[in-house]
Order: sequence, then structure tokens, then C-alpha cells
Amino acid sequence: EEGLPERAVVTTCAYCGVGCSFRVELKGEVPVRLVPDGRGRANEGHSCVKGRFAFGYATHPDRVRSPLVRGSIDEPWREVGWDEAIAHVAAEFRRIQARYGREAIGAVASSRCTNEEVYLVQKLVRAAFGNNNVDNCARVCHSPTGYGLKRTFGESAGTQDFASVDHADVIMVIGANPTEAHPVFGARLKRRLRQGARLIVIDPRTTGLVHGPHVRAEYHLALRPGTNVALLNAMAHVIVTEGLVDESFVAQRCEADSFARWRAFIADPRHAPEAVEAETGVAAEQVRAAARRYASADNAAIYYGLGVTEHSQGATTVMAIANLAMATGNIGRPGVGVNPLRGQNNVQGACDMGAFPHELPGYRHVSDPVARAAFEAHWGVTISPEPGLRLPHMLAEAREGRFKGIYIQGEDLAQSEPDLEHVHAALEAMECVVVQDLFLNETARYAHVFLPGASFLEKDGTFTNAERRISRVRRAIPPLAGLEDWEITQRLAQAMEYPMAYSHLSEIMDEIARLTPQFSGVSYTLLERLGSVQWPCNEEAPHGTPLMHRERFVRGEGSFVLTEYVPTSERPDGRRELLLTTGRVLAQYNVGTQTRRTANGVWCSADVLEIHPQDAEARGIAEGDEVCIESRMGQTRLRAKVSERVRPGVVFTTFHFPASKTNVLVTDGSDWATNCPEYKVVAVRVERA
Ligand code: SF4
Repeated sequence: EEGLPERAVVTTCAYCGVGCSFRVELKGEVPVRLVPDGRGRANEGHSCVKGRFAFGYATHPDRVRSPLVRGSIDEPWREVGWDEAIAHVAAEFRRIQARYGREAIGAVASSRCTNEEVYLVQKLVRAAFGNNNVDNCARVCHSPTGYGLKRTFGESAGTQDFASVDHADVIMVIGANPTEAHPVFGARLKRRLRQGARLIVIDPRTTGLVHGPHVRAEYHLALRPGTNVALLNAMAHVIVTEGLVDESFVAQRCEADSFARWRAFIADPRHAPEAVEAETGVAAEQVRAAARRYASADNAAIYYGLGVTEHSQGATTVMAIANLAMATGNIGRPGVGVNPLRGQNNVQGACDMGAFPHELPGYRHVSDPVARAAFEAHWGVTISPEPGLRLPHMLAEAREGRFKGIYIQGEDLAQSEPDLEHVHAALEAMECVVVQDLFLNETARYAHVFLPGASFLEKDGTFTNAERRISRVRRAIPPLAGLEDWEITQRLAQAMEYPMAYSHLSEIMDEIARLTPQFSGVSYTLLERLGSVQWPCNEEAPHGTPLMHRERFVRGEGSFVLTEYVPTSERPDGRRELLLTTGRVLAQYNVGTQTRRTANGVWCSADVLEIHPQDAEARGIAEGDEVCIESRMGQTRLRAKVSERVRPGVVFTTFHFPASKTNVLVTDGSDWATNCPEYKVVAVRVERA
């Protein structure tokens, strides 16, 4: 029949960190339908409106199908062949290094690309650029997770598989909205709630979980943005002072010294719920009741999102969460754990693959001579023991005239970064900006070379989801511009006279396995046999590791960290009386480059500003009015949506549409440990336009 597909390819969704498995049905070279694959362990046949329907961007007419080059950003683009484009980039990068020094160039790897592609980008930087100037989008989302969980548990990843939630009696969701941002896992979580699990939500906003269809949070701690650490310390205070510590777990599994110090610290009355009530805005009795509920459950699990990490104390908040889980013995079995919900499909993998200026693949610090020696021997180069520049530092150095060239793979810095006016100035100050993407995105306005990348439907490889599950990505159609992203990176390395000669993606995975202990058992053969596998996958765990830290923590004993609350400097004042916090909606995805080019616009066609009725009335703002929003960094305009989903004093918006310029408002504040930007707290003035 005319409408029936002719063939199908099984692959992995390229939107969020759930990593759903799909069957791509095709007619000829045209994908006609994506059907959730029942064999996928992450989704078990379920899907959401993004993964299932929003794939049309892959063949959208806006796709760029040929490399583009121009002498300056004021000139029109010139279409060129791949050889000319790659040779041009290599010559420019060599020229810049000869003139300004080896450290004057760097790269941003994409959390949207495959593990193999990310691995090659960091290898390109370390082996061909000769520095460690490589970063990835986790810098602006989950870098505090990596820091905090490694420091306390010993491994930079979530502790559980998704199925673990089926065993939780109490679920605490902090700064996350899985119904909108991780819909398939959100549905699984809600199924567990319908079976009787209790729910605690810590969020300034009344998300769909707080009281949505068939679910209701027992406790909603609607705290003031920026006070996570004060609130979590208060919960810990209740647990310590009311005798709710799991003493036997702590004695057997955790460091005695760090626990003793932490217990004395957290028992101090300044951490009591009553003492911080005015700061957090949450009634002390609510905090006490929620802490008792969490600590007394047989199995209590924590799931968190960017509402935890994108703060000036992002890493501290992650460690405060880890302290709570250890103190109550909620680690190492089904139904418990600490679980970051990753926004992008491969943010876990991009971190695992060493796309960080301080870490080689497998989270080994570049200053570690043993780790460096293994890579040096295999790659035939000397690796710098000095950490390279983090992304915000690359941009700051560019504004100072010292950083001149950047290779950006699948990241729209000019829309997604905070403090956008400074980002634009940094990009303008560089001499060679190379953007590799599907579309001429906002960053391409500042580019000298555009290299057209391939969508997930056009490539092979692997993604790693939020539960550390490595799944195959399989090519359904040929790359529209002729090359997959890994081939572009390989050609660039060759043009810069570093020999890279992989003939198949499996060879890259074999190299990753050889050099990275957590992945030593992973191969394409194993993935074909098992369907997917969760790292660590090695000799001790040849079929992978659904639950981590079962008998002992990866670091040996769990380590408690003193989590002193330091208020953010981003506070309301006489001029800017409200706090802006940002997030996402179900139908759109991050900066919207893909979803805006699909029918999902029917459900969401613009960013709006949610404002509480009291705050709206005080400013004469009615539903649908255009409002002017001003922070200390800049201003923009949005339509108002008067809503009780935000608490008085707080406004909320998304950043899916470039015209909104939401991130112009976000300040240069960032996490003290990782420089993750403080997207979630911006003091703003809101007026009717
Ligand atoms: Fe894709 Fe995430 Fe939706 Fe699954 S839940 S279909 S991975 S966007």
C-alpha cells in the first residue's frame, strides 16, 4: 500500500536524558513515523510528544547542506566543498596559534552528539590543538552534579536505574519538573505515586506534580529561589536532632570523621527550620514534617534537576542532598538514591567522555600522571597537565583579546549562555569562530565558517542517558551534507597534521573501552547482544551496573561535606523587587533550534512571563499584556501570563525562542565550584510596557 513504511531502523531519541528507544519507519529515504520500541529498557514502549512527533526538523528546508565560509561576519556566506572548508579552519587555527600562542584556541563539544563524536572532539583538542581548552554544555547545567557526587560518593553520576523508582515509598523531587522536561520518566514516577508512594516537592513553582491529574504532593516546600542549601540544611538538622539518622548505615558505610564533623555542624540551632524560615519562605512545621517523612521511609529516593545546580551554590546543594541520603541510609538498593535528571540526551556521555578542561575520559584529572600516560602512549602525544579554560573563561579571555579561535559543535552559545551581551562581544572579538550545527543558529551570526552537521537520524554511535545507560544510535538516512559529525572532526584533526584514521564508530568505542576503566567491557558487539548497558561495565560487572554504591561507595567510604549556606548576592532590592527563575515546557526543547521547526509550535509558540496575581495587580498588569523585564544585565519584553503556579515575589519564563532574549537578563553569577551559571535566580523589575 502507498502509505506503508518500507523499512525500519531502531535508534535512540536525541532530545532529553531519558533516552527512549524508537523504531524509525521510512519510505525510501524519508522518515515517516517514529514508534516507541517496546524493547527499549529506558522507555518500555512509551514516548512523549517531542520524541514521537518532533523529528521533522531533520529534513527541514532550513538544513544547511554545504559548508560555508566568509572572511568576516559582515560578509555573505560562500558555499565551498568540504576539503576547502576544513583546510581553511586548519590554516586559521594554525595561524592563530602561531601568532597568539597554543592556548588561544579551544572547542565546545555537544551534549547532543554521540559519545564517539564527543570523544573525538576532546581528542582533537588535546592531541591536535595541544591544550586542554575543551568544555561541553554540562558547564551550564550539571557540572555541579559531577563535582558534588564525586566528592561525596566517588562517582560523577546518578546512583540508580529508572526502574528503581518502582520501589520507592517516598519520592523527593527537588528543582525538577519531570512531567515537562523528562516526560517518560515523569510518567513512571507518577505511576509509583498512584500506587501509594508519598511525594515531597521542593520548588518555587507549583509544577504539575504538586497537584496534577491523579497526583498530589504531600508536601510542597515552595521556597524562595536561591535558598536550597538553607532548606536542605534545615531538613538535615531535623534528622540529626530528632534521632532520625540511620546510625548503622553511617557506621558501616561512611567516614567516621567527616560524619562527626557534619553532625556537630548541622545540629547547630542556626540551621533549625525556625531559624531559616524567614530566609527560605517555607514554614518551619512543613520542613520538619517533610524531613520526618523522608527519613522515616523504608525507601526514599531523591530526583533533582537544574533547580538544584544552576545556582551560586549548585555544587553545595548537590552535596547537601548527598549528605541527606547518606545520613538516612538511602543509598545502595532499589527505591533509594540520588538521581540527577539530565536535560540533554547525552549530557552524561559528554561528561564521561572527558569534554572538560580538567578531566580526561572517565573523570580522571589531567594532572594525574598515570591517567595521562595511558592516553599519551595510545595517542602518541604529550598531554598538558594543566587544566584548560572553562567555557566562561574562554569567552572572558576572548573579550580580553587573548582567545581567538573556537570550534563549536552543536551548541548555540549566542542564545543559551547567560549574560548574552557579553557572549556576543566575546564571539565578535574572535578571529575564527567555527560553528558545526544543523541550522544557521544564533551563534552562526558570529561565525566565519559553518560546517553542516548531521541529525541523530543520519548517524551511528551511542548516547548515554541519565541512568548511565549506553544505547545505540543507528543511521536511518544518509547525512544530508555528506558527513557525520565524527568524520568532520577526524578530517579537521588530519588537516592539523594529527593522524586520526578510524574507519568505523566501533573502533572509537573500542579505544574508549581500552583507555577508560568504567567502560572497559563496552563494545558494539555487547550492545547488540544486550540492547543497552549501564556503566560501570567492566570485568567486575560484565553486564553493567544498574545500581551503584551497593556494598561500598565507589570512593570507599561515603564522605559528608559541611554545606554552609551563603546567600546569593542576587536579591530583590528597591528597584528590582521580583526574582526571575527559568525553565522549560513539554512541547519545546531548550533553545528550540529543532522543536521550533516542527508542529510542536501548535502547543507552544512563544515564551511568556508567569506572574502571580498579586504581583500583576500591584503593577497594573493583566493577562496577555506586554511587560518589560529588566535585570542588572539587560532587558527584554514578554507577554504576561497571570498564574498562581508561581509564588508571590517570583516570576518564571522559558528560553525556547530567540526573540525573547531571556538569557540577556541572566547575570554573570555562577556556582563557586564549577562556574555553572546562576540561571535560576535573577532580581528583576517588571512593568507594563
Ligand atoms: Fe525523547 Fe525524552 Fe520524550 Fe523520551 S521522554 S521521547 S527521550 S524527549
